Amino acid sequence: EGQLLHPYISLPSVSADGHHVKIVGNIGTPEDIEAIVTNGGDGVGLFRTEFLYMDRQELPNEEEQFTAYKKVLEKMEGKPTVIRTLDIGGDKELPYLNLANEMNPFLGYRAIRLCLDQQHIFRNQLRSLLRASVYGNLKIMFPMIATLDEFREAKKLLLEEQQKLIDNGIPVSEKMEIGMMVETPSAAIIADLFAKEADFLSIGTNDLIQYTFAADRMNERVSYLYQPYHPAILRLVKMVIDAAHCNGKWVGMCGEMAGDEVAIPILLALGLDEFSMSASSILSARSRIARLSKEKLMPHMESILSLTTAKEVEEYVKNILI
Ligand code: PEP
Ligand code: MG
Repeated sequence: EGQLLHPYISLPSVSADGHHVKIVGNIGTPEDIEAIVTNGGDGVGLFRTEFLYMDRQELPNEEEQFTAYKKVLEKMEGKPTVIRTLDIGGDKELPYLNLANEMNPFLGYRAIRLCLDQQHIFRNQLRSLLRASVYGNLKIMFPMIATLDEFREAKKLLLEEQQKLIDNGIPVSEKMEIGMMVETPSAAIIADLFAKEADFLSIGTNDLIQYTFAADRMNERVSYLYQPYHPAILRLVKMVIDAAHCNGKWVGMCGEMAGDEVAIPILLALGLDEFSMSASSILSARSRIARLSKEKLMPHMESILSLTTAKEVEEYVKNILI
């Protein structure tokens, strides 16, 4: 398969009927950029910054973070690079923060909730990101947003730090986009309101699926409920894509679902602009999209969205669409 996919490294990400999308990579460390480049990714759709904070005794300082972000942006040579602010808590712990044990860590004090509460941690990261912004095409996104108040507060802190840097004569990029992850059902349901205030939306299906079905993504006993193709998820995804487009914004997906062979034709037909996945999936996704026609897929969406189970959706796609 590697041999057959090789030509796609330098080809654009475009469907058989000429519809262009972006196929980008998820990374966890600056070193992971190598694999995105060698697989011809169109950019980075999700840089999980937790690695900077994990496996150590104290918070990373501003310089350390700045260096990591600058490195990623320079290596991407102007291609869009979405960096997510700290998403700690849930399955990712930081012992040195001495956080209290919680009954439901995935529903608890994590990600943007922690960052808005412990502002010194958040502001430090925002400053590092802003200083790095001049070295590439940076887009910042906030994780686990559930309410507009959270998004507005996070954006306000970002703009405050930006103004302080400008006042001190430190250059920051003027075209940096500020977006958010849609990974809570509340954010998906009011995506139309978010799309008015955010520059872009990125659907985090790993969490969106667990929260929609109320089924812990780490618990094997309830893993049967983890159903990406379920009409409940597809309808939410469609709502988010439509909300973004109605407001002239682009929308990506950075959960595992974005690289999935059954999900890709559906996401293409629904109009997803950016597919973000592990580097090793980029070329197969590009060749898959090259063989699909968005125009021919679109008339099937009404039928697919009214199917009753994930199994029916999977069979429909496998038998009729691919
Ligand atoms: C997601 O929730 O889909 C996502 C991309 O973020 P993470 O897997 O890091 O929670
Ligand atoms: Mg998530």
